[in-house]
Amino acid sequence: MNNQELMHGKVKTLYDTGDAEKVLIKYEDKVTAFDGKMVDYPDGKGKVCCLISALLFEKLSAAGIRTHYLDLPSLNTMLCRRLTIVPVEVICRNIAAGSLVKNTDGLKEGQLLQPPIVEFFLKDDAKGDPLLTEDRVRLMGVDPEPLKEQALMVNGQLQVLFTLLGFDLVDFKLEFGYDGHGDLYLADELSPDSMRLWKKGTQERFDKDLFRKDEGDIVTAYKHILTQLRQFA
Ligand code: 5GP
Repeated sequence: MNNQELMHGKVKTLYDTGDAEKVLIKYEDKVTAFDGKMVDYPDGKGKVCCLISALLFEKLSAAGIRTHYLDLPSLNTMLCRRLTIVPVEVICRNIAAGSLVKNTDGLKEGQLLQPPIVEFFLKDDAKGDPLLTEDRVRLMGVDPEPLKEQALMVNGQLQVLFTLLGFDLVDFKLEFGYDGHGDLYLADELSPDSMRLWKKGTQERFDKDLFRKDEGDIVTAYKHILTQLRQFA
């Protein structure tokens, strides 16, 4: 790509577009876990995550949720609104798994969480992305309320969609950003790299846990999700 590189993330690269309000985001054939300590470069991974993200952003936009997604100039590159990213990872959970089970007591993996819960983590690999309280989010100058409200709206939409496809949406991570007018948008990506998807009623994984636990090929699993999504698009 000839555009000037603005930022190199763990699995995505940001490029200038010459338009102050837009950026290009290239999804790389790369997967990381445990704050970048585990890395692999699976062929076709950037493309499948980009295509799933585009499809899900389009679904959410159609439901009135503001997202940074604008266009798909190539199969692994998105044109997006330029935002100032809030350094908080917003996690929404419908079923207990991952760090929730590890860092609490009395919760079993697979246990239904009713109502769903929303948590905040600091977006800072060097600090190990620690869990934040809502008060700490406020002390960082960020209002947690709109983040929580948006996360629950996204959850409502995605849960319906994945249920139709025969999957349980266990949990997912969202990132948000503000544009130059102070409007909040959903940012980053929405793919099985940042969500847990289990085949309905089972704990068969179709997400990044396959990589984290070395239990299977993520590109094959992600392609299956994309195929299913396309049938409903
Ligand atoms: P947990 O807190 O259980 O590790 O993660 C909860 C959900 O958020 C999972 O779906 C996980 O994939 C996603 N998640 C949490 N942190 C990150 C992160 O730093 N990057 C990505 N891609 N996903 C994350």
